[in-house]
Amino acid sequence: MTITDKVTKKGLYIGGQWLEAKEYTSLRSPYSGETIAEIPIATAEDVEQAIQAAEQAKKVMAEMPAFERANILEALARKLEERSDEAAKIIALEAAKPFTTAKGEVERTIETYKFAAEEAKRIHGETIPLDAAKGGVNRLGYTVREPIGIIGAITPFNFPMNLVAHKVGPAIAAGNTIVLKPATQTPLSSLFIAELLEEAGLPKGALNVVTGAGRVVGDKLVTDPRVSMITFTGSPSVGIGIRNKAGLKRVTLELGSNAAVIIDRNVDIDKIISRCVTGAFSNQGQVCISLQRVYVHEDVYDSFVERFVDATKKLSLGDPLNPGTDVSALISPNDVKRTLLWIDEAKQAGATIATGGVAEGNIVHPTVILNADRQLKVSCQEVFAPIVLVNKVKSVDEAIALVNDSNYGLQAGIYTNDVDTALDASEKLHVGGVMINDIPTFRVDNMPYGGVKESGTGREGLKYAVEEMTEMKLVVWNRN
Ligand code: NAP
Repeated sequence: MTITDKVTKKGLYIGGQWLEAKEYTSLRSPYSGETIAEIPIATAEDVEQAIQAAEQAKKVMAEMPAFERANILEALARKLEERSDEAAKIIALEAAKPFTTAKGEVERTIETYKFAAEEAKRIHGETIPLDAAKGGVNRLGYTVREPIGIIGAITPFNFPMNLVAHKVGPAIAAGNTIVLKPATQTPLSSLFIAELLEEAGLPKGALNVVTGAGRVVGDKLVTDPRVSMITFTGSPSVGIGIRNKAGLKRVTLELGSNAAVIIDRNVDIDKIISRCVTGAFSNQGQVCISLQRVYVHEDVYDSFVERFVDATKKLSLGDPLNPGTDVSALISPNDVKRTLLWIDEAKQAGATIATGGVAEGNIVHPTVILNADRQLKVSCQEVFAPIVLVNKVKSVDEAIALVNDSNYGLQAGIYTNDVDTALDASEKLHVGGVMINDIPTFRVDNMPYGGVKESGTGREGLKYAVEEMTEMKLVVWNRN
C-alpha cells in the first residue's frame, strides 16, 4: 500500500520510529478539497523528543566517514528514482502542483541528493601560511570543517520535496543531524523522504520529522540551545521573526521576492515568449523567483504584450493530476481571495487587466496586468499567484532602477543583445543572482542561490549550504 492509495494516518518520525501523536488534522487537496491523509500535530514535548533523538545521533553522524554519508545519499537518490511517479503524485496531491511540473521537481530532487553525495566527499579546510607573520614562524596551521550539530530545518509548501532536499542533503553530507518541520499543507513529501532515508540506512535519530503548527514547532526549534542552526525557507515575515528569536544560532533565510526581467529593444521577442510564460505561471506563480514584473523597452513593448497575452491564454487549467494541466489551484482559498483583492486594487488604480483576473474554485486564471503603478501591491509585494505585470520603459537604465526599487532582491533577468548593456546590468542589479538572456526563474541545484534585502541571508546550492552547515576550526602546531 502506498501513501496515495487511500487516506492514511501518518506518524511523527522521531528517533527512527513512527510515533502516534495526541492530535491529528485532516490534510486536504487544495484542488478538490478531498481529505488525502491524517497528519499528526506535534506538541512542544514531541519536538523536545525529536531534539533529544537528534542529540543522541550527533556523535554517530559526526564520526561517520564521508564515503558512508555519500553512500546513504546515493542510495536515497536511487530509491527516489525508482519511485519517482509516486513521489510526483504526492506533490501533485498535497500542493496542487501540476503533475508534469511535479515530475520536474522530483527529477531535480534526485539531482540535489546526488550533488549532496558528491559534496560529502570534498569537505575540507586549507593550510594557513602562519610564517607570513613574524610571530608565526615554525608553526603549522590548517583549518578543518566540522559538522555544526543539530540543524532545525523549516520548509515552505511550494517545493515540498526539493527544498527539503536542499536542507536534508547538505546536512547529512556534512555529518549533522536534523529536526525537520515541513509546511503544514505539504508534510507528505517530507514523510516520504524519511521513509526512503530509513531504507537507505540513515542512522536512527539523524533525521526527525515533526509536523504541526509553525509557531509551536518552529518556536521550540528556534529557541532551543541544543539546535545550532536554523535553515529556513519561507516568507519574509516569518523569517524575520525567526532571526529575531534565534540569538547566536547560525540562521540561513531563503525568503520571498517580486522577481523581474528586463527586455531590451534589440531582442527577438518570438524567441523568449514561451520561456517568459513558463517563468510567470509555473506552479501557479507560487515560486520564490516567479516572474512577477516585466519591463519592456518601448520599441518592442506592443509586440511583446500581444504575443505574451496570446500565449498566456493558451495555458490549460485544471486538475493537477492531469499531465496536460499547466495551471491548477492556489494553495488555499485565502490566497485566492487575497489575489483577487490585489487584482481589484490594480484595476481601481487604472491598470489594464489584459487577460485573467478571475477565479474558478481555487484556480486563479493566469493574469497579465499592464501599466501597473509601482506603489500597488501586485507590484511591490510578492504576489505568489499567477499574476505578471508588463510595463513599458524608455531605457534599460530606467528598468534597472525599477527592478531595484523593491524591498526584495533574489534574482533578476535581462534579455539583450548588447554585451555592454548586459555587463552594466549585471553590475547594477541589486540581487543575489543576475541571469543574462534568461528569466529570473532560472535555477539549477548546484548553483549558489539566495538573496539580498528582504529576500534573505546565506546561500543554498549544495557546496554553499555545506559551508553554512559546518564550523571552521583552526589547528596550529608549534614546532619551536
Ligand atoms: P511561510 O508561511 O513563511 O511558511 C514557511 C514555513 O515556516 C512553514 O513550515 C510554516 O509552518 C513555518 N512557520 C510559520 N510560522 C512560523 C513561526 N512563527 N516560526 C517558525 N516557523 C514558522 O511560507 P509559505 O507560505 O509556506 O511559502 C511561501 C514563501 O516561501 C514565499 O514567500 C516564497 O517566496 C518563499 N520561498 C522562498 C524560497 C527561496 O529559496 N528564497 C523558495 C521557496 C519559497 P506552517 O505551514 O505550519 O505555517
